Amino acid sequence: MIIYKSPDEVDRMRTAGRIVAGTIDRVTRAVRPGVTTAELDAVAEAYIREQGATPSFKGYGGSGRRKPFPASICTSLNDEIVHGVPSRKRIVAEGDLLSLDFGAVWDGFHGDSAVTLIVGEPPSVEAEKLVRVTEEALEAAISQVRPGARLSDIGAAVQQVAEGAGFSVVREYVGHGIGRSMHEEPQIPNYGEPGRGVQLKPGLVVAVEPMVNVGGWETRVLADDWTVVTEDGSLSAHFEHTIAVTEDGCEVLTARG
Ligand code: MG
Ligand code: MG
Repeated sequence: MIIYKSPDEVDRMRTAGRIVAGTIDRVTRAVRPGVTTAELDAVAEAYIREQGATPSFKGYGGSGRRKPFPASICTSLNDEIVHGVPSRKRIVAEGDLLSLDFGAVWDGFHGDSAVTLIVGEPPSVEAEKLVRVTEEALEAAISQVRPGARLSDIGAAVQQVAEGAGFSVVREYVGHGIGRSMHEEPQIPNYGEPGRGVQLKPGLVVAVEPMVNVGGWETRVLADDWTVVTEDGSLSAHFEHTIAVTEDGCEVLTARG
């Protein structure tokens, strides 16, 4: 069931989104060769708590033999797509692609946003293109979000931009509705034919998150039960915003200054 948000609830999500955007700015400034992913996690957690919010990811998703996520952000390097676990042993190096995923809950509502950074000089023309194209795919998806559009228009826009540039889109992980829970209905794949699924209407809030690979779209999960990598070892990038459908279009709740 899709849970539509009232204007007051969207307002609370606006604050959650602003906190997430601020966290991204803060952590981005701390990224440099030699920093560990655990240090970046600590910067994020401190900032989120200073704002009176709570990290969404910490303690999330334990089930069966999988332990709950132990950190406040996901830090995914190079062939890691999403859900990389911060570690004191993981040192960021010049030329790395670093995907950072952030979630914060404020007054009961979540914000969710991700960016991919190149640490220092790009390691290759292709890596630079991958990061640019993935961000462009998110922008193309956002341009589809307005009342009357269909849900699958979002993923179709991502797929067109990513595959048009010669890359592939991850199939096994998708965007999602967001609100009192980090993951709500509907699921939002990053591929598919346009013109399908529910019509978008005001009060729908979604997290749109293209994950784009240089090689094939196939993925696997590492032995830590969290980190998702490309099956073929190729580079991957990830961008995400939390977006509210408004009366006349949309508002990106996690927009950065
Ligand atoms: Mg996210
Ligand atoms: Mg998300």
